[in-house]
Amino acid sequence: MINIIDHVGIAVRKIEDSLPLYRDMLGLRNIRIESVPEQKVRVAMITVGEVKIELLEALGPDSPIAKFIEKKGEGIHHIALRTDDIRGELKRLSSAGIQLVNAQPTRRGTEYEVAFLHPSSTNRVLIELCQLLV
Ligand code: ZN
Repeated sequence: MINIIDHVGIAVRKIEDSLPLYRDMLGLRNIRIESVPEQKVRVAMITVGEVKIELLEALGPDSPIAKFIEKKGEGIHHIALRTDDIRGELKRLSSAGIQLVNAQPTRRGTEYEVAFLHPSSTNRVLIELCQLLV
């Protein structure tokens, strides 16, 4: 079951250049920054109530975020929906004909397992399913 929008991912060139907007102008103070080398990104998780904004910065030119920014510029990259059964959801969606980017979830940092649905099946919006690690 999908429970909540967990976060909205936003591709940025430099997290440090974007933080003044979220921290100082918008006054959001619950910010955690972490590197996720296995996905070639650096991430700032900004909590807003029950939902987060995830700023994504490329770690190197071969990062998917670098390629996204090169093609489309900075902006909304994905919407993440949280589930308590990511494997079951992937299986269910796949058998319903939804194209998956990841058939199996991968660990994302210290907090999540994640998998992406292919935009060709989702109105050209990249959707991430995520499950909190316990
Ligand atoms: Zn995400």
